[in-house]
Amino acid sequence: MEDDPRSAPVIRRMPLTLANKIAAGEVVQRPASAVKELIENAVDAGASDIALVLKGAGSSLIQVRDNGSGMSPEDAVLCFSRHATSKIVRAEDLEDIRTLGFRGEALASIAAIAQVTLRTRRPTDEQGTCVRIDGGLLAGNEPCAAPPGTSIDVRNLFYNVPARRNFLKRPTTEFRHVSDTFQAQAMANPWIAFSLESDGQKMFHLSRARSEEFSDALRERISALMGTEQARQLVPVQESTSYLSVTGFLGRPEHARKTRKTQFLFVNGRPVRSASIRHALVSAYDALLEERRYPALVVFITADSRHVDVNVHPAKAEVRFDDDRGVYNLLHSIARRALGVADLVPQYSRSTREASVQRQTWASQFWAPPRESGLHTTQFEGTQTSIVYAPDRSSAPQNAKLEEMPLLWQLHDRFILTRLRSGLMILDQQAAHERILYERALESLQSGLGLSQQLLFPQYITLNRPDYELLQAIQLHVTALGFSIELAPGCRVGISGVPSDVRTGAEKDLLRELLEQYKSNEEDEQLDSRENIARSIARCGAIRLGARLGTEEMRTMIDRLFQCKQPYRSFGGNPTLIQVTLEELTARFASVSPKDEGRG
Ligand code: ADP
Ligand code: MG
Repeated sequence: MEDDPRSAPVIRRMPLTLANKIAAGEVVQRPASAVKELIENAVDAGASDIALVLKGAGSSLIQVRDNGSGMSPEDAVLCFSRHATSKIVRAEDLEDIRTLGFRGEALASIAAIAQVTLRTRRPTDEQGTCVRIDGGLLAGNEPCAAPPGTSIDVRNLFYNVPARRNFLKRPTTEFRHVSDTFQAQAMANPWIAFSLESDGQKMFHLSRARSEEFSDALRERISALMGTEQARQLVPVQESTSYLSVTGFLGRPEHARKTRKTQFLFVNGRPVRSASIRHALVSAYDALLEERRYPALVVFITADSRHVDVNVHPAKAEVRFDDDRGVYNLLHSIARRALGVADLVPQYSRSTREASVQRQTWASQFWAPPRESGLHTTQFEGTQTSIVYAPDRSSAPQNAKLEEMPLLWQLHDRFILTRLRSGLMILDQQAAHERILYERALESLQSGLGLSQQLLFPQYITLNRPDYELLQAIQLHVTALGFSIELAPGCRVGISGVPSDVRTGAEKDLLRELLEQYKSNEEDEQLDSRENIARSIARCGAIRLGARLGTEEMRTMIDRLFQCKQPYRSFGGNPTLIQVTLEELTARFASVSPKDEGRG
């Protein structure tokens, strides 16, 4: 009976070391998570200088040294036991968390899955303490000499959790995570000096910011981390409401990157990941951004800790506000105001919904009021732009002459000029057409229904073997664009139709050029094949500088440009158009001083 397995107790208390090992998995997923916890502890300890040393991207050694408060000999041992924390005493304290750590979990977790050596001394103590823990078990505790502050060595992370250790990514990947964590912490604490050394190489050496204002100090730190040029072009945000305050910087859209590497969000000083906050800010850029470009964001949000819950995630990287939706709207409009003040684009609109309306009214500025009627409607392939315009002829006799002037004209066969109410707009015809073709191509690739124009005389071309195979690989995309092709034996390709809207004369060699462009775009590894093909067709199919355009063509071009999601920039990021206001013109004429006149 005694041996009957059913009578054996089923629930057992786990050995503490095992419990810690399990909890460790939650807190420490990779070297970067340990780095985050150790740096946060150093910040909480009031350090003004924090040094991080890595070996093997953190999997052989993570060392964090600080000159903070240090620990007593008792605390130096106690800090490794679970839920040991000096930061929270009562449950009510959870309502008002001011330090970065509070769970008392990090050191216990790290020590459970590594070999840890702690050296620490309070400035007032004569001697320091050295504690060693191996896999959660105390392996040494003795007095030692140590500078004031704390130094923790974490060796062989996950040495006793092979599954985790094997799960680690390549050292370069792990290093990238550590470096991201390090940079976020450095950004959040500009008045603390930070350094990072990896396998004997100095990667970062950031001195303490000198400015007393936080946003100035932050700019110094951004400058040290991202370079002076990046720092100079940032648009400041600074706003407070009764609920929260926002301080930081937004990058200009033309400097947006292909990755989110320069996006840093903080809530109450803590680096956070929050898709919703990011979206609130980034959507404020509206049409200013290229697809898949990410503007720099270094944004600090401070809210009363009663309104914000930082306790939702074991690694404390996520946040929740008691009014998430309100926070979203607030952040969105704060970002919009900041970008508006920076005057990033003419006629900046207030909301996404208004944006399209705004774009139409902007377009309406240069449409000639038709003489026959007060209401003018341009109809364009199913999309209808109605522009209500009722010229009051009786009250504007001086405008009569203006109306007789051409409203659109072409300069040197490369720029399209048009009169705006507020001045002059100049389009780069090639950049504008590229934008139009690019967006059309993306739509066609999405729907698979690109419009096609039939060739009067279908043609056959012969490709070399690699090009032929490439064409086979991307055939679906190519047909979605509007090509009608037929792959024949002997690397021959029959072409009976090409996408509509490409420049006249381009049809014949279009496919060949498309393949060339596609291959050269492939060097940019960030492009997926759709993006590549859309860019390629835009490059090859767009009208060139030097092409003469008729008034109707120019009109159509502008109309189509303003139907684009992002009319202001080519996909390469260059402007498609610029605007010169009457004020600017007036100012230029006024700036000639009498002295200059005398010389002339
Ligand atoms: P938490 O930070 O959540 O309190 P940790 O496990 O990270 O939990 O740390 C436990 C305790 O050890 C801290 O509350 C703090 O008292 C002490 N401690 C940890 N690191 C340091 C350090 N670098 N300097 C001084 N004290 C530290
Ligand atoms: Mg901590």
